[in-house]
Amino acid sequence: MGTIDGLPPLREVIRAHDLVARRQLGQNFLLDLNLTAKIARSAGDLSACDVLEVGPGPGGLTRGLLAEGARRVLAVEKDARCLPALAEIAASAPGRLQVIVGDALEVDVLAHLAAPVKVVANLPYNVGTELLVRWLTPAVWPPFWTSMTLMFQKEVAERIVAKPRGEHYGRLALLAQWRCDVRIVMVLPPEAFTPAPKVHSAVVQLTALPAPRFPCDFGVLQRVTAMAFNQRRKMLRSSLKGMGAGIEAELEAVGIPPTARAEEIGLEAFCALARVVAAR
Ligand code: SAM
Repeated sequence: MGTIDGLPPLREVIRAHDLVARRQLGQNFLLDLNLTAKIARSAGDLSACDVLEVGPGPGGLTRGLLAEGARRVLAVEKDARCLPALAEIAASAPGRLQVIVGDALEVDVLAHLAAPVKVVANLPYNVGTELLVRWLTPAVWPPFWTSMTLMFQKEVAERIVAKPRGEHYGRLALLAQWRCDVRIVMVLPPEAFTPAPKVHSAVVQLTALPAPRFPCDFGVLQRVTAMAFNQRRKMLRSSLKGMGAGIEAELEAVGIPPTARAEEIGLEAFCALARVVAAR
């Protein structure tokens, strides 16, 4: 069967390079190049962008990104076994694919990227959330990326886009939605991957806002929401007691009933509370 880029089908690549999937590296590969092209397309126009991909593996999504016209792809892969397969892709797209072997939690990618940058990745489940939190909490905002199109386990995707009172609502939703527009663009069944994981996956798109949706000090917002969600089923007047004696009056001042629970309170109200606490 022919492929979109003239390279061999991924099953052949995996066989040729003996890329038996390793569970400890979160290796669940996408082998359908129509699907990887669709994920790449969901990231929007890539022709004027550098793309950061974490965990290219045998390169299915990498091929999709290049086929969809990405200006350049910087791929960071921990498993050196994938290098020969990725080198074949680099040879078929001269000057457009740079591969760094290393741990994405440690590699300094900024030195290798030129703006504008989009992050597009099928993330390894064991480090996916940690990478996301890092990308969402840079020292300065706007961040180095304009959008991120990321595959997670579906449950993590639902935590990112969750709204108050929803089962998955919590600190990750607040963190993501404070400075990004977020949406789920695709849900994939386990059979889309080789080997198939136990759960569904979903692609989330996060688009960086130029400034936070509601102004407040990030550190204070983090402190308030950490304390509130640490005891998410308790009334806020009790879970936030540690913020000091005045907290009940401060909750009321920003229109939050002190008997409400964290999971009922939206981002705007949490930001208002963080502003009042910071102004003490
Ligand atoms: N992008 C490929 C695809 O869609 O078929 C592979 C995705 S697989 C879910 C995750 C990939 O991340 C694997 O290739 C794995 O080796 C790599 N990986 C795991 N931990 C990593 C880390 N800390 N830094 C960089 N890559 C990592």
